[in-house]
Amino acid sequence: MTDQVAALGRGTGTRFGSGWISGVLGVVFGGLAYGGVLCLLFPSWLTTPDARALYPLGVVRLLIYAFLVASFGLGTLSVILRRSKALGITALGLTTAATLLGGSNARIGTLGGTTAYVGLDWFLLNVLLLALIFVPLERLFARLTTQPIFRTAWQTDLTHFTISHLLVQVTVLLTLAPATLLFGWAVRPEIQSAIQSQPLVLQFVAIVIVADLSEYVVHRAFHRVPWLWRFHAIHHSAEAMDWLASARLHLVDIVVTRGLSFVPLFILGFSAPVLYAYLIFVSFHAVFIHANVRFRFRAIERFVVTPRFHHWHHAVEPEAVDRNFAIHLPIIDRLFGTAYFPEGRWPSAYGLAGSPVPDGWLRQLGWPLRRARAVVH
Ligand SMILES: [Zn+2]
Ligand SMILES: [Zn+2]
Repeated sequence: MTDQVAALGRGTGTRFGSGWISGVLGVVFGGLAYGGVLCLLFPSWLTTPDARALYPLGVVRLLIYAFLVASFGLGTLSVILRRSKALGITALGLTTAATLLGGSNARIGTLGGTTAYVGLDWFLLNVLLLALIFVPLERLFARLTTQPIFRTAWQTDLTHFTISHLLVQVTVLLTLAPATLLFGWAVRPEIQSAIQSQPLVLQFVAIVIVADLSEYVVHRAFHRVPWLWRFHAIHHSAEAMDWLASARLHLVDIVVTRGLSFVPLFILGFSAPVLYAYLIFVSFHAVFIHANVRFRFRAIERFVVTPRFHHWHHAVEPEAVDRNFAIHLPIIDRLFGTAYFPEGRWPSAYGLAGSPVPDGWLRQLGWPLRRARAVVH
């Protein structure tokens, strides 16, 4: 448990019945409801244009209502049970603020007036879905059973997660830029139509192979080129592995990796449903391989990247350094001689020797931009 959370629970601990669990859940539900109401009120500023039309409004309002009720109940419970009232009062404050703004009946704000937006809807949707999947999974099937949900530096990783989702407009634009601006000349309509005429399943297999080959090259370059490594070192500075650690990525790392990996997909011109299916697959798979889960997937671990394979990419063991670059297909590492996958074992610890990267999102944002420094890896 971190110092900040410990401070919130001074003298009362986090055990069941202490009001800590109800307080944390109350704050989470209150925050989701408050964010949801803001999205209804200011859709132009806070929601993703392509996604707006897809949201089932009735379900969104029902969820906001359910979160408000849950946050009020849990916040009240925490205030009653807990000596320190910070969590309970924060939950009740968020509930009150969301209710005063209209709650689940908030009117929908006018659209238009701006083309720039912050992806608050994208953040809320992802944090809700991923937490719903991974928090119970990591509780029930933890590899490191003593690692709590709010482990060391969770605030840093949650900030990475939040900011990269809020900046979705910028990151998508920059991801598309290298392909559309520099590689338009390489597009051949006859090649694209030949690819699009293939069955979707075959296209999906092909897109996973092509994307992972290019991700492999870019990822390996991030490890080998010293000035690129300084950006990627942020990802490797995580000393606790779980679903949230996957979000610890410098914005330059995100944009360059995605931008360069997208180039071959753009040139080959896979069908739109295949491209979207791959985007959903990679978003889930990239999170999953960081998760603190003990599954080994013996039958498929030689063919598909599993948490154990990628955990070795983050290992402190010297023999695992600069190994396992693939995101989806371990065979790519075996082909290029960069695989390290000892039978049945997990790493002893994660992170960088000497912990050269500071904690905190802002410090990590600026760290690679400062003078070149030797990072032991
Ligand atoms: Zn790496
Ligand atoms: Zn990773």
